[in-house]
Amino acid sequence: MSCIFCDIINKIIPAEIVYEGKNTLVFFDIAPSTLGHMLIVPKNHFANIEEIDQESLGLLMTTAKKIAAAFKNSQGLAGYNLIINNGKVAGQLVNHLHLHLIPRYEDDGLEAWGHGEYQGDSSKKIADEINNYLNNK
Ligand code: 5GP
Ligand code: ZN
Repeated sequence: MSCIFCDIINKIIPAEIVYEGKNTLVFFDIAPSTLGHMLIVPKNHFANIEEIDQESLGLLMTTAKKIAAAFKNSQGLAGYNLIINNGKVAGQLVNHLHLHLIPRYEDDGLEAWGHGEYQGDSSKKIADEINNYLNNK
């Protein structure tokens, strides 16, 4: 199975690398949402967050925290978004788990998610179903 991020990790295709650790790689997104938009990936291939083991996830998040803090402090960033698109419907185009680190600037024009409201017991139903699922696993 071909994977563009595995190819970047294995240096088969080029990318502008920001940081390389033993288990993780950070490189600039080829089509940045804002200046400095980068992707943080585990070096092992996991299609999504459900597939990654706990230790690898911990290492991924540790790298995300370290690079985000270094980025913020070295550039004087006001803030940033750390985002995982999980599944096609959520906008996942590359099926190799990755975190987007998107630096935010005043008036950068990026839209935030909208906000709605719950009707009736729809939120309680979801919570009950999640807990039933967990209790019966
Ligand atoms: P997703 O939509 O899967 O969450 O995000 C995939 C991201 O990978 C996109 O933001 C896209 O611009 C970026 N991307 C896709 N192909 C390449 C590539 O070959 N090199 C780099 N550096 N980024 C890529
Ligand atoms: Zn991969």
